Amino acid sequence: MTDALLHAQGLAKTFEGRRGLFQPASRIQAVADVDIVLARGAALGIVGESGCGKSTLARLLLRLIPPSAGTIRFDGQDITALEEHAMRPLRRRMQLIHQNPSAALDPRLSAEDAVAEPLRIHGVASGRALRDRVAALLAEVGLPSAFLHRFPHELSGGQKQRVCIARALALQPELLVLDEPTSALDVSVQAQILDVLEELRARRGLAYLFISHNLAVVRQVCERVAVMYLGRVVEEGTAAAVLGAPRHPYTRALLGSVPRLGARGMAPAAAGEPPNPAAPPQGCAFHPRCAIAVDACRSSIPPLLAVGDGHHVRCPLSL
Ligand code: SF4
Repeated sequence: MTDALLHAQGLAKTFEGRRGLFQPASRIQAVADVDIVLARGAALGIVGESGCGKSTLARLLLRLIPPSAGTIRFDGQDITALEEHAMRPLRRRMQLIHQNPSAALDPRLSAEDAVAEPLRIHGVASGRALRDRVAALLAEVGLPSAFLHRFPHELSGGQKQRVCIARALALQPELLVLDEPTSALDVSVQAQILDVLEELRARRGLAYLFISHNLAVVRQVCERVAVMYLGRVVEEGTAAAVLGAPRHPYTRALLGSVPRLGARGMAPAAAGEPPNPAAPPQGCAFHPRCAIAVDACRSSIPPLLAVGDGHHVRCPLSL
């Protein structure tokens, strides 16, 4: 797919570790068999419980960690195995916004210096032009000139996240990967940051990969949604389809959906804890928590199957 800004196929990441010299190596499949297509200017939400692999997926797509399998294309270019020096010019075009703006900002840098830093490093601007550009970036995220010389400890959580967004915008990226960008903020501030992000996307034509466990936030920002469970996408489609009429029992559980017993015999998924990723269940990883599991669910991993136009679900009993 050449018109996609970001296109991943069969992406997988396995972490291997050893607890002691005489203990067997542990192997965690953090991401498995993930396909992602993100068009220019589009917003794709990745949702799931903590530990489902969504943040690892974000780091893979940004090539911050190498995949164990699969391919990643950015703007048509295969970046799966690019050396760091070849990735460097592309990194300007893809930026990451972290969950915790306090940790993301250097406490020794004022808002002006934090936003100026990437422009200086890349030799984009200097002197008066640099100061003007930084002031314009901060104004674009809703921070007037009175905030230029404030340090992180003088800013609220929302103001710090605005500085992080301005800094990410400095090099005019096409892709923002937003890893739980509002989850560390108060509810009222969350809404303001989401408004800023929506305005920026409309004005700049940015593409967003939006990682969140908050379905209301994803519904507000994203046109498409992928639901992850234990490293795999179990349902994906438009936000209206996936969040409005979920098919997979796990998506239904996430949404706390009311059971529609008359509809294809579906019942709500069972509650319970996600399984240990170092010892995943055989077959469909959701089967220990699934109220409608049958014997076949324990023997093989179901494929993603089409249930509608651009709507796929990894559950043959949800078709
Ligand atoms: Fe439940 Fe089986 Fe579907 Fe998995 S494949 S979600 S266990 S019904």
